[in-house]
Amino acid sequence: MTDQTTSPFGGFTIDFGAGGDAADVPLADTAATPLPDGIAASVTPGGPVEAKVVIVGSGPAGLTAAIYAARANLEPVVLGGYAPGGQLMLTSDVENFPGFPDGIMGPELMTLFRTQAERFGTRVVDVDVDRVDFSARPFRLWAAGVEYRARAVIVATGASALWLGLESEERLRGRGVSACATCDGFFFRDREIAVVGGGDTALEETLYLTRFARKVHMLVRRDEFRGSRIMRDRALAHPKVEVHFLTQVAEVLGDEKVEGLRLRDSVTGAERTMPIDGLFLAIGHKPNTDVFRDWLDIDEKGYVVAHEHSASGIEGVFVAGDVDDHRYRQAVTAAGEGCRAAIDAERWLEAEDVVETTTAAAAAAG
Ligand code: NAP
Repeated sequence: MTDQTTSPFGGFTIDFGAGGDAADVPLADTAATPLPDGIAASVTPGGPVEAKVVIVGSGPAGLTAAIYAARANLEPVVLGGYAPGGQLMLTSDVENFPGFPDGIMGPELMTLFRTQAERFGTRVVDVDVDRVDFSARPFRLWAAGVEYRARAVIVATGASALWLGLESEERLRGRGVSACATCDGFFFRDREIAVVGGGDTALEETLYLTRFARKVHMLVRRDEFRGSRIMRDRALAHPKVEVHFLTQVAEVLGDEKVEGLRLRDSVTGAERTMPIDGLFLAIGHKPNTDVFRDWLDIDEKGYVVAHEHSASGIEGVFVAGDVDDHRYRQAVTAAGEGCRAAIDAERWLEAEDVVETTTAAAAAAG
């Protein structure tokens, strides 16, 4: 089992452990920092990268925004993050994305999104944005030491997996503790493992893991699931799945690798141990808004608050996808939001005389 997984997403390496620690990336002058492929040719030597539209994030929202913006000749630059592709990269079968009647693997779907965006001239750079300055136009963004200047920005940074916050969970991450069944399930062939969570993600991961594991214990902290009925029924009926309601993880046991769990009853507080070889977390997500905190309206749960349509509180900055959506959080709704944000951005740029009128019609016409 590894923390670093080679991604099917265009052959890039994805760090599922740290998620790309932007804070470690030193800021430097563009002149001193090698520019990413595909970007270098368009930059004045020593100058920043200029773009009509910079899209931050490369999940379904960001890449759909890129497809629309690119087809409207906006030559978008996507700053896709060190873990490009968003949450679908950590998902196994996607059965509810329209157009794929037999389902499709999440990473494969995101590869198709990216190929389609690049086909129309989108430049995707797999770097995290370290900081932004939205105080004046053009907007300024810094990523891996390179400054980007954008007439419009689409924020589509999505959300990241949550962890329990236990010291033992962190210590054993990559040694039996994972938040990605698709990446790590293979390592648990004929083993006994546990999944924490009672939502759709946990149910989906549990069912996926039954392909490998001898037995999968679902640990649900309340006395009921949060996930959809069809998924609950499938999990409850599966011979390899055992559901433990009112059960929380107090500690992950093991020195070098996961050997078991200390579990706590949610009502009585009674504790017991359960020997297992692996632990998968599927307890929800945190929106990736830290870098925008000083500029955009953020609600108490960390989500960006969209104003009219996809507009943020700053003219010329638009939002799309899970970063502002705590209600639907689906790949298809994120993609729809990406489309809206690109059309809104283009109409706004047109009103600002940055692009010609005709291209807005092209975007709207799809
Ligand atoms: P979620 O719906 O928020 O569910 C999170 C689950 O984790 C809940 O059961 C929650 O318990 C539990 N949990 C949270 N913190 C915990 C903790 N500290 N310890 C133990 N358990 C904890 O998140 P999700 O499952 O990631 O789904 C997010 C959204 O994506 C949902 O809208 C979902 O429908 C959607 N989704 C859809 C699909 C699909 O349709 N194929 C697949 C995946 C996700 P409580 O219920 O007690 O809060």
